[in-house]
Amino acid sequence: NTFAEIDLGEALNQNIQRCKYVKPTPVQRYAIPISLAGRDLMACAQTGSGKTAAFCFPIISGIMREQYVQKPRVARTAFPLALILSPTRELSCQIHDEAKKFSYQTGVKVVVAYGGAPINQQLRELERGVDILVATPGRLVDLLERARVSLQMIRYLALDEADRMLDMGFEPQIRKIVEQMDMPPPGMRQTLLFSATFPKEIQSLASDFLSNYVFLAV
Ligand code: AMP
Repeated sequence: NTFAEIDLGEALNQNIQRCKYVKPTPVQRYAIPISLAGRDLMACAQTGSGKTAAFCFPIISGIMREQYVQKPRVARTAFPLALILSPTRELSCQIHDEAKKFSYQTGVKVVVAYGGAPINQQLRELERGVDILVATPGRLVDLLERARVSLQMIRYLALDEADRMLDMGFEPQIRKIVEQMDMPPPGMRQTLLFSATFPKEIQSLASDFLSNYVFLAV
């Protein structure tokens, strides 16, 4: 009933307290245990439902628990462990700000990359190492084509506002991005899809990208 009762790892539980989150919202109450159990998830979530924390907490907790945290190092190609895709620069920046607060002193590094802004600053950030990459689809495809990001190490994929990404015409980019994750070792990726609506196109994305998933509507 409270976040203190959910073992997300000491540092993350402390950050949640610091953010003054006490009780999970309805989507968090169900999405977090399902994700912590390792299941793929398709969740119905509106803006303001607390969906950002619903996918950030299990990702940060999982990276900490499995001690996936990368040693700081400078590399031309970045190998994030988690990818959060979102439709716009504004939403990506909001997710980045929240994810940074939640990952304070966990050793988990969060970087954001979005289009419509110079790429150089983003490249410098990526070179310094990244565990969780928050990105818009177009800019991420650009980074993949430049071989500045590799998705071979991705263990967690979150698609936020998936219906909006499709409305904006990002389906080809999203498919191209996910194709690059379907490399060995298989079965290692956990996928969390959040959407406000569930048209046929979203259901077909879910059946292509998710395996044996739980559908959550709260
Ligand atoms: P979101 O739907 O993720 O955009 O979150 C909406 C707002 O609710 C944000 O300002 C969050 O910081 C806040 N929030 C999310 N979860 C909780 C919670 N469990 N308790 C209090 N505030 C929350």
